[in-house]
Amino acid sequence: IPVEPFDLVIFGGTGDLARRKILPGLFRRFCDGQMPDGARVIGAARSEMDTAAYRVTVGEAIGEFGGDSAVDCDAVDAFLERVEYQAVDAKGEGGWEALRGLLRDGMVRAFYFSVAPSLFGDIAERLRSFGLADAQSRIVVEKPFGHDLASARSLNATLAQHFDEEQIYRIDHYLGKETVQNLMAVRFGNMLFEPLWNAQFIDHIQITVAETVGVGGRGEYYDKSGAMRDMVQNHLMQLLCLIAMEPPSKFDPDAVRDEKLKVIRALDPIDYHQLVRGQYGPAGDAPGYREDVGDARSRTESFVAMKVHLSNWRWAGTPFYLRTGKKLRARDSEIAVVFKDTPHSIFGPEAGQHRNVLAIRLQPNEGMTLDVTIKEPGPGGMRLIDVPLDMSFADALGPDAEAPDAYERLIMDVIRGNQTLFMRGDEVEAAWAWTDPIIEGWQSRGDVPKPYDPGSSGPEDALMLMHRDGRRWREIK
Ligand code: NAD
Repeated sequence: IPVEPFDLVIFGGTGDLARRKILPGLFRRFCDGQMPDGARVIGAARSEMDTAAYRVTVGEAIGEFGGDSAVDCDAVDAFLERVEYQAVDAKGEGGWEALRGLLRDGMVRAFYFSVAPSLFGDIAERLRSFGLADAQSRIVVEKPFGHDLASARSLNATLAQHFDEEQIYRIDHYLGKETVQNLMAVRFGNMLFEPLWNAQFIDHIQITVAETVGVGGRGEYYDKSGAMRDMVQNHLMQLLCLIAMEPPSKFDPDAVRDEKLKVIRALDPIDYHQLVRGQYGPAGDAPGYREDVGDARSRTESFVAMKVHLSNWRWAGTPFYLRTGKKLRARDSEIAVVFKDTPHSIFGPEAGQHRNVLAIRLQPNEGMTLDVTIKEPGPGGMRLIDVPLDMSFADALGPDAEAPDAYERLIMDVIRGNQTLFMRGDEVEAAWAWTDPIIEGWQSRGDVPKPYDPGSSGPEDALMLMHRDGRRWREIK
């Protein structure tokens, strides 16, 4: 869908996120013909440089992170002509007048805050005081959105002094993934699933977001945060909302977000015994978590697993198991909806127990698989096996179709003025209100995370969390 001409200002336009995701993503949209004539991207950051020098760095970022499109699309120079740069000081006066001078009237104006959260308030204030933003302008805010409920509230209040909620786009790139949106299409576009989408037919739901990387260069930030704040409060909660929400009356931002908010509010307070925290240890020459963050006594978790319940009619009795961690066996993220056993097996015990599982893969290889039980082919009698009905997007869309990356899709939604896939302020606060007591509980008990081996599936206790209930995690592979 084409968009209006726009001026997109990227605060932090020289930073890591801009180089790895935002600029290469915009370039891919350009190659797909989605950036109309007159659309412009303006990098704004602390470094003093001119537009020519910035274009060189953007060209390098595209070469490094643009993927196949950077090779196929012979349009880097044409894209770079749309790129400008202005040095600004988020905390001072420098550069703001000049930046205003670059903006054109009659265009959609969007300001992407790809900077440390401590600068969000300063930038919002200056956008107003220097007259860069008007009532139609949009701001895009990166994670982390607050550190706890109090800080998220305060950030919401600061932004609200300068912008209406309809102008604020809180990004969670998980919501921009093709499969995540497809989850809504599958649930609400088919007759097949929704009648079964409840505690009567679903045994449990598992959400796994497994990473192979450690904390890398983000150790200092991560150690103050941990998996609960960095992954659960935002990404896993958002996935949980989409899988568990009631059908909204229409696919519009507030209808969808109202339903997601109800899910968060229906979450039971978590039982301490249903929570496992882990921290990866060293392996051979590879440093462990504590060495990575430079604190030999750190008690921050790099892994968390939990069993949660929703107190509502749809889900009473069906648990949701969530887990996420770093340095695990594979980079593997999926949501698995595990249906109940058939009420009676006409094939007898030797046929074994078989369950339908709808697995929604987020990475790698976005796609969905539905395990269906059939007869094992051959003369061996009525033996049952599970076979997957598989739909990977690469297959469905053809080998040449590159599904847009989450960031580029979400940026185009900002330009279109569509907030459906962005978090509303009250959602973020409700999520913190649920996670805060968990984190406070760990702190007040002096909880020490369980060590786990890099390359494993996390601490043994996480496996026990499921085994106790006669269930098992799906393999991380
Ligand atoms: P970064 O440190 O690489 O870049 C920071 C940018 O902010 C630079 O362009 C710098 O010039 C600019 N900046 C710093 N102080 C400034 C000032 N006073 N005035 C104007 N500009 C200033 O950071 P990053 O990794 O790109 O992250 C940016 C934001 O995105 C952060 O909020 C981060 O939490 C979030 N985020 C990053 C990633 C990632 O993969 N890097 C992922 C998710 C969220």
